[in-house]
Amino acid sequence: MQEALQYLQLLQEKTPVLVALFDASDRLRYANAAFRAAMFIAEGEDITWEEMVRRNYHAGRGTIINTSDIDEWIIVHRSRRGKQRHKVFEVDFHDGRWLLVTQTVSTDGWMLAHAIDVTAFRPDERAMRLDRDRALYASYTDDLTGVANRRFVAARVADMLAPDGLGGAFCLIDLDHFKGINDRFGHQAGDLILRDFAARMVREVRRSDCFGRVGGEEFVLAMPATSAGAARALVERALDVVRLARPLPERPDFAYSFSAGIAHSRPGDTFADLYARADRALYAAKMAGRSRIHLEQDMPTPPSATPG
Ligand code: GH3
Ligand code: MG
Ligand code: MG
Repeated sequence: MQEALQYLQLLQEKTPVLVALFDASDRLRYANAAFRAAMFIAEGEDITWEEMVRRNYHAGRGTIINTSDIDEWIIVHRSRRGKQRHKVFEVDFHDGRWLLVTQTVSTDGWMLAHAIDVTAFRPDERAMRLDRDRALYASYTDDLTGVANRRFVAARVADMLAPDGLGGAFCLIDLDHFKGINDRFGHQAGDLILRDFAARMVREVRRSDCFGRVGGEEFVLAMPATSAGAARALVERALDVVRLARPLPERPDFAYSFSAGIAHSRPGDTFADLYARADRALYAAKMAGRSRIHLEQDMPTPPSATPG
């Protein structure tokens, strides 16, 4: 075993396959020589995925990122990165190479990435494959905020609820008094607040969580392998962050908040079951005064009918 590990380490430095390992905070914890060369990383360098992407984007090297707004691109990709246990896709590089990437994610959010050079394979079909991948990606993205949409989150919740899934907590989030915000400041300001909220949430959640927009000013957060209490702590932290936000430049005193309901999965649950329980908790949070988080068990049990 020891010998095998030594050879694994030795040959990993020699293979043209790019190999990288990111931890749950998306910090690069291991990169072989091929990966370091392709992504312009120094040996032993301490860097996050986001720092690496930004640096190469501004230097016009590494993977080609077609955007004029790198902040927006980061939000879109962060909200989707590493949410599936296994993923395969193609990327093109500034140096003309095409790579086939595979990503494998552990249940606690570490990610192993491999990439091999496929420049020579079926270049005639490449544009078609890329178009297909982009269309697929768009079908999972909310246009306004760039985060995952209902379809994507529902699929991740289905993974969580599957017989071999991890189970976990599910949170439904609704911005407070949003109609009033639109009425007072206009629909455009409302849109800006929705984008501000989504961008903050993407930063607050862990890799194993999946955050998305399911409708107007309603969002969900799926937290696999998480207790209701831990989920509440995470969402409380997010609420603290959101309360401090001042998203309207011309209204520096304007702040907003959200209410949230959290439910924990039970054996045999469907997405609709979990959603309905979280929705009841959310309703209770609204009734209790908004800007707060309720767990499904926080709700008073209805008084049992007394006989006679
Ligand atoms: P509550 O605290 O009870 O949630 O009050 P609310 O006003 O947020 O509740 P309600 O669901 O009645 O209002 C939601 C509003 O969100 C209504 C709609 O105009 C607005 N809205 C929905 N989608 C969008 C959007 O994409 N952009 C903007 N600007 N507003 C939106
Ligand atoms: Mg609503
Ligand atoms: Mg609302």
